[in-house]
Amino acid sequence: MSEAPMKLVVVGAAGRMGQTLIRLIDAMDGVVLHAAIERAGSPFLGKDAGELAGLGHKDVAVTDDPLAAFLHADGVVDFTSPASTVTFAGLAAQARIVHVIGTTGCSVEDGEKIKAAARHARIVKSGNMSLGVNLLGVLAKQAAAALPASDWDIEVLEMHHKHKVDAPSGTALLLGEAAAEGRGIDLASHSVRSRDGHTGARPAGTIGFATLRGGSVIGEHSVILAGEGELVTLSHSAGDRTIFARGALRAALWARDKKPGHYSMLDVLGLSR
Ligand code: NAP
Repeated sequence: MSEAPMKLVVVGAAGRMGQTLIRLIDAMDGVVLHAAIERAGSPFLGKDAGELAGLGHKDVAVTDDPLAAFLHADGVVDFTSPASTVTFAGLAAQARIVHVIGTTGCSVEDGEKIKAAARHARIVKSGNMSLGVNLLGVLAKQAAAALPASDWDIEVLEMHHKHKVDAPSGTALLLGEAAAEGRGIDLASHSVRSRDGHTGARPAGTIGFATLRGGSVIGEHSVILAGEGELVTLSHSAGDRTIFARGALRAALWARDKKPGHYSMLDVLGLSR
């Protein structure tokens, strides 16, 4: 007997990723749109989620009541803001469902609250849900381990559209973490997040970040390993938001029969050791 389709709630349903998710859920087997949520006061409340996403009427009205929506759902897919993601994690824990978190810019405290919710919810959280970027992280870790810190400097460069509100991007941090793991160092105490004015020479062994913003760029990332007289560049280019949505839905389906816990896309993709 085949399993019933997984009933998913899209929170932030009117956002860039929310709309992409609604379109992909409609096109994919094994998942169904159960509810669409926006914040209280949103001009999209009461509108049909399918019509918002350009699909035509789907009989799912946008509401601001996540608790009611989560109660009879199997999972929630969340690309919103850190504060709302923390709230949604608590509600997903109460409902004991899957919570896929793509939201970036979460603080250490937010991360702790999300981990606490993972005692009851099945949480998959990643700064980037695409297969390509997660593979890039694995390659960055290998390269950082192979090329000695005494001779090779690591810089992470990213560019995103002009509406993005956090920096460096969640993906840049994911790649920096991977490189730091390869080097066996702690990222927080070895990262240089910005440079301005007379900065002095580059401290050896650090991992630098550079952020560009503009236009409609969906996501460009490079990990640059700079040695004496040679440069290795590992890069990823996102041409379409669907890559993140597809990864998020794959994560939801993967987590459906898992125990409560805090998982990453590396777990979903079988790339974790
Ligand atoms: P966006 O277009 O601004 O969409 C976010 C949506 O969430 C907006 O519609 C927003 O509504 C809504 N929202 C905010 N608080 C809410 C709440 N309490 N309840 C319900 N809805 C709420 O942003 P986006 O480009 O889709 O990106 C969203 C997040 O995903 C960002 O953190 C981004 O960095 C991240 N992201 C991650 C990945 C990945 O692979 N992990 C990929 C792409 C993007 P208002 O506009 O009314 O506030």
